[in-house]
Amino acid sequence: MIVTTTHERRPTRQITLAHPTNPVVVGGDAPVSVQSMTITKTADVDGTLAQIYALYAAGADIVRCTCNDLEAAEGLARIVPRSPVPVVADIHHQYKFALAALEAGVHCLRLNPGNIRRPEHIKLVAQECKDRAVPVRIGVNGGSLDPKLYEKYGGVTPEAMVESAEIELALFAEVDFDDVKISVKASSVPLMIDAYRLLSERTDHPLHLGVTEAGPPPAGLIKATAGIATLLAEGIGDTIRYSLTADPVEEARAGRQLLEAMGLRERKNIDLIACPSCGRAEIDVIDVAKRAQEAFGDREIPLQVAVMGCVVNGPGEAKDADLGIAAGRQKGHLFVKGTNVAVVPEDEMVPALVEWAEFIHEHGVEAAIARADTAKAAREAERDRAKLLAEQGDDANASEQKVELIHKRVDS
Ligand code: SF4
Repeated sequence: MIVTTTHERRPTRQITLAHPTNPVVVGGDAPVSVQSMTITKTADVDGTLAQIYALYAAGADIVRCTCNDLEAAEGLARIVPRSPVPVVADIHHQYKFALAALEAGVHCLRLNPGNIRRPEHIKLVAQECKDRAVPVRIGVNGGSLDPKLYEKYGGVTPEAMVESAEIELALFAEVDFDDVKISVKASSVPLMIDAYRLLSERTDHPLHLGVTEAGPPPAGLIKATAGIATLLAEGIGDTIRYSLTADPVEEARAGRQLLEAMGLRERKNIDLIACPSCGRAEIDVIDVAKRAQEAFGDREIPLQVAVMGCVVNGPGEAKDADLGIAAGRQKGHLFVKGTNVAVVPEDEMVPALVEWAEFIHEHGVEAAIARADTAKAAREAERDRAKLLAEQGDDANASEQKVELIHKRVDS
């Protein structure tokens, strides 16, 4: 399925992270990719690989591992051949670990220009990357800006961060290397937005977006989304990372979900929607939605599934969902694309959703409707609907009383 998007992406050049079976292209018209970073010791090969697989399952296209000492570089030599996704080595202070990571076979390096500053070291690494066709991310970080630039601009500013990237690019150019993506991250959302806007006007290199040190969810998720989504909506950004103080699986999942929500990536997992619940609800919608979310987990079933609190309005409100369930008098009414297909006891609502989702995923919507006694399901739904309406009346949310009160305020 081709996803259409209303966001006109700014044209960028392309780079490739050349994983042998799962290469990832960044930039140009390639899909915006999701990155995350392992939090294991890279020397712990099995632990790091297990986390890379978990990140991959949660939606990461690219995974970064720190390469901060010799043991980490050795670990990378064992991890890279077994990783299902391209591996980026994160290099901070020592250029030698960049060279070591290249020996380990990594698919990309991340260099922080604020931390590796000697031109001869930078050029040596760039030359090696060029010889091996390994791209580099110039990862400028507001918190570790080159002190000279900090002084020149009187602090961390968008101009200072962009200049930091440009200085590094110029050094790379001296050895004729430009296989580069760039990030200018800051923990301040307005600052990073301005820095990326400025950068995107000055370069056509692909951009890696992120709000650095966003913190734990939910505030961290909100900050990262505010920064990343704003830029994506302007067509800026080719690859993204949520930097959360949390299990990195949450980062990968959030990145993936943001891109799906913005129509920039095809749906991979269940898109669970649920009504907010109201005076009509026949179940604890929050609890059922949470259980459904847990039951589906990261399973690759690209369907929209609705959990609705009542059969009075639920099937109508969620008629566009691929599959849904609406509660009615200790029962769950299942519907597929708005057509009632089955009735299950309340405590079987979640397993029934999973079973129907699997069936639809495998056989399609039409086969799911064809296997159901839709007339019987519709009759039962209508019966429950009528009973609930009789019990609760038309105005279970007491909206009319509120309307009366509004009139009293306005008319008096
Ligand atoms: S009317 Fe029913 S489906 Fe709509 S919000 Fe209320 S409980 Fe949920």
